[in-house]
Amino acid sequence: MKILVVNCGSSSIKYQFFEMPEGTVLARGVLERIGEAESVLSHQAGGRRTAIRQAVQDHREGLDLVVKILLDEEVGALRDISEIFAIGHRVVHGGEKFSESTLITEEVIKVIREYGHLAPLHNPPNLMGIEAAESLLPEVPQVAVFDTAFHETLPPYAYLYALPYEFYEKHRIRRYGFHGTSHRYVAQKSAEFLEQPITALNMVTCHLGNGCSITAVRGGKSVDTSMGFTPLEGVVMGTRSGDLDPAILPFLAQEENLSIKEVVAILNKKSGLLGISGVSNDMREVQEAASDGNWRAQLALAIFAYRIKKNIGAYMAALGRLDVLVFTGGIGENASGVRATICSDMAEIGIELDAARNEDPKAKGKRIVSTDRSRTKVLIVPTDEEAMIATDTLELAEKARSGG
Ligand code: ADP
Repeated sequence: MKILVVNCGSSSIKYQFFEMPEGTVLARGVLERIGEAESVLSHQAGGRRTAIRQAVQDHREGLDLVVKILLDEEVGALRDISEIFAIGHRVVHGGEKFSESTLITEEVIKVIREYGHLAPLHNPPNLMGIEAAESLLPEVPQVAVFDTAFHETLPPYAYLYALPYEFYEKHRIRRYGFHGTSHRYVAQKSAEFLEQPITALNMVTCHLGNGCSITAVRGGKSVDTSMGFTPLEGVVMGTRSGDLDPAILPFLAQEENLSIKEVVAILNKKSGLLGISGVSNDMREVQEAASDGNWRAQLALAIFAYRIKKNIGAYMAALGRLDVLVFTGGIGENASGVRATICSDMAEIGIELDAARNEDPKAKGKRIVSTDRSRTKVLIVPTDEEAMIATDTLELAEKARSGG
């Protein structure tokens, strides 16, 4: 069964086309610069790469182009449009309404629209993708997979901020958490890899990519997570500051003559690794600068790792016992030096990396990088949010198609 997974941004559509349940990727690509004079579609299938440049006005035209290239005799992956069994959409914010993936209905669209003001950069383009797919392929079941859904199991004492309670009632200000699809995927894969029931395991999953978040997972359920009302909260990221004293906002606004909106833009786009190092938001470039002796790059690495270490420690306390620590995302999977700094000097509290396993340049895929005596097993598990979306989409679409 063929499943199309799409992730729509404000001017882009990323897609992967799966053969399920095997999970084979038949094609993948990205259409960028939608709405500009020239849009670019980069497509890969069967080991061949193709690029198409043409004007694409909106997401409907964009998705139409994606379907056309999937149907192309030479570079496509589909003989007939009726072979598309279902479409899975990544949706960033499901608010408090969705604790799992769901079949898209009019009601679901309404709720995603309602949560648009909580994720103004993401939910509106996600919706454009859903509406485009509905108008192009009205008979095909569509599924929404939310970044927030996995964290809907947080208890109120973990998700509420200590603000006057009426702000929660009035504005739904609370911790929602993000990257949920990735945290759920790596937690499941870790349990499978260790051949243990997920219900018996306490885990901390570290998703370290351009955005970074840490989640405490008890028995397969998220019980706390570092991102909050927005993805700005938590640990240090490529360009985001993570946690800071909120009193800094009005202070900076006054001292630098900026609006609060401008200050928040600085916290989102000019802070983190980029802000501290002054070099880059990209971990590899910061590492390179640090090894060339750039002290601000070295400081950025130290702050980045220290904040994650502290967060892991907090979740060890929250969980009471930590069986598995998982690293994923571009940094988590590849940056052995960052993993080593995060896990340094933690042997006495149960986390001990094995230097050779951690640094093995040839090692790939899921693996253990802790020593045999480490109480907590430290794992690297490559994330695959699209595969998780395809799995959920298949399950829900099969039910929908069988009328159940
Ligand atoms: P996104 O969150 O956009 O999906 P990724 O998960 O791909 O991003 O993570 C991107 C980050 O991973 C960048 O900071 C990049 O420098 C870092 N990264 C990728 N490969 C390596 C590597 N071999 N060593 C260190 N950092 C890496």
